Amino acid sequence: MRNILVIEDSPLVLKILEHMFRQESQLQPVFCASLAEARVMLETSAELFFAAIVDLNLPDAPNGESVDLVMHYKLPCIVLSGSYNEQRRDELLLKGVVDYVLKESQHSYEFAFRLLHRLESNSQVKILIAEDSAATRQFIRHVLTPHRYQIIDACDGDETLRILEEQTDIDLLIVDHSMPGLSGFELVKVLRQKLKRSELIILGLSADAKGSLSAKFIKHGADDFLRKPFCPEELNCRVMSSLERRDMLRALKQAAQFDALTNLYNRRAFSEKGQQQFRQALRAERNLSVAMIDLDFFKRINDEHGHASGDAALIAFARALRSHFPDALIGRLGGEEFALVSLQDGASLAQALDQLREHCASLKYAIGAPPLSFSAGIHHDAPDELENFLHQADVRLYQAKRQGRGRSHWQ
Ligand code: GH3
Ligand code: MG
Ligand code: MG
Ligand code: MG
Repeated sequence: MRNILVIEDSPLVLKILEHMFRQESQLQPVFCASLAEARVMLETSAELFFAAIVDLNLPDAPNGESVDLVMHYKLPCIVLSGSYNEQRRDELLLKGVVDYVLKESQHSYEFAFRLLHRLESNSQVKILIAEDSAATRQFIRHVLTPHRYQIIDACDGDETLRILEEQTDIDLLIVDHSMPGLSGFELVKVLRQKLKRSELIILGLSADAKGSLSAKFIKHGADDFLRKPFCPEELNCRVMSSLERRDMLRALKQAAQFDALTNLYNRRAFSEKGQQQFRQALRAERNLSVAMIDLDFFKRINDEHGHASGDAALIAFARALRSHFPDALIGRLGGEEFALVSLQDGASLAQALDQLREHCASLKYAIGAPPLSFSAGIHHDAPDELENFLHQADVRLYQAKRQGRGRSHWQ
């Protein structure tokens, strides 16, 4: 939970902010209606706050004194203002506020919350600035600093490549085009041969007056481009939306591959990864095993102890599967049906499943719920098709069910 100091006197704006904070489980607002109130709050407990949203005009602070107060305590400061004033905005950005947001629409308030969310994740974001001009490097660093990124500098292409080689966790590269040695454009071409967009975001930068360079950068794999001189807000907006885009893609990829309840691979991802393993085993001339596993009388757990207990059983079973078979590929194929691909032979896989069965018998997953039991079918052979192995294992699983459940069939 993060505490956010909100210094605001307008009842209407407070109402909107209160409503928006109610949708945020991780952000807790603390409201102050005047500079005097905020001063007392910060004097006594500044260290409890993560960031501040500050109204520029308060009855006891008509000239933005509230911003100076918050900046004095080095809190990231998002300014709310009722009117747009270019000079005032430039002054504020120079002072190092995170951003200047106009109180004009739902969209502006949403933007302020996007900023708060980004501030949370930005401390984990590493940005490399590749720029030969020390003054520009310094300027970019100054502009990015209020957003809490980790920032690293490089002054030419070779240094950039070396740093990216050494620090594989860099998220975003801001790269100038005209640098001694490798140009920014050449750097992008080299980097994109090794690093995908999901691994490194690249923003090109150039003083080139022609529009063609931006298109060239982007066609060769840069994610975005900025022409110098640029306004600080624009740089921050572009960095922020590139990071948001990447995070959204990562979340989509995660959702497309993993089952949300158990965090195991879903059927499609299991099938893709399984087929890869089959191809590898075929090349290496190694046998494989596939096990199909189905929980016994699972419907009863739902019916007699509630769906939440059923869910808890699935989560606990998935965790147990993962810890008993750390080297196997495991998927939840649907409902209470799981599958795994393993290099173990049929007999030793059946033995390992017996150990898991023993563990499940005493596994506590919900109060008063019965012990978990499962049946399994195993097929072990030289690899042909994953689907065929799954079918053979399924036939044995149903033999195990018919013969009384709580057992594995492997031959
Ligand atoms: P058997 O021993 O023959 O396998 O019997 P069973 O009761 O385990 O099998 P059945 O196929 O009759 O019932 C499976 C149940 O699993 C029915 C379905 O409602 C439940 N189920 C499927 N997915 C979920 C889930 O995500 N959460 C919960 N709680 N239940 C689920
Ligand atoms: Mg340059
Ligand atoms: Mg079942
Ligand atoms: Mg089933």
